[in-house]
Amino acid sequence: MGYAYDDQNIFAKILRGEIPNSTVLETEHSLAFRDIRPQAPTHVLVIPKGAYVCFDHFAQEATEAEIVDYVRAVGDVCKMEGVAENGWRLISNAGENGVQEVPHLHVHVLAGRNLGRMLSRG
Ligand code: AMP
Repeated sequence: MGYAYDDQNIFAKILRGEIPNSTVLETEHSLAFRDIRPQAPTHVLVIPKGAYVCFDHFAQEATEAEIVDYVRAVGDVCKMEGVAENGWRLISNAGENGVQEVPHLHVHVLAGRNLGRMLSRG
């Protein structure tokens, strides 16, 4: 299956500097910034700079340098936000059933409160 990337998505605009963001970390291949509608005291989005729609697209087509940079960026955000002590959650929504709102790969780093069970119906 091919992945069609829409370069008008809001994270593409953030990467081009067309709209502002609250940056937590920037690396060669990745950007981490605060979610505009935080669902926990810590809610950081980590995205690759490359044009990848979702996690499986990235896993299949990204270079090893991009993948290493991205995974390390998530780890560095966790360290910077101090999430390890009390626990945290990593979420990546994809596609229609995953209810992905922005079609540029992102993981949500959530922490700072009890996040409840992983899934609820509805
Ligand atoms: P998802 O449903 O996984 O695609 O999540 C998209 C996330 O992007 C949501 O949590 C939104 O609150 C967040 N979001 C949308 N626009 C922006 C923006 N301009 N800056 C930061 N976060 C955003």
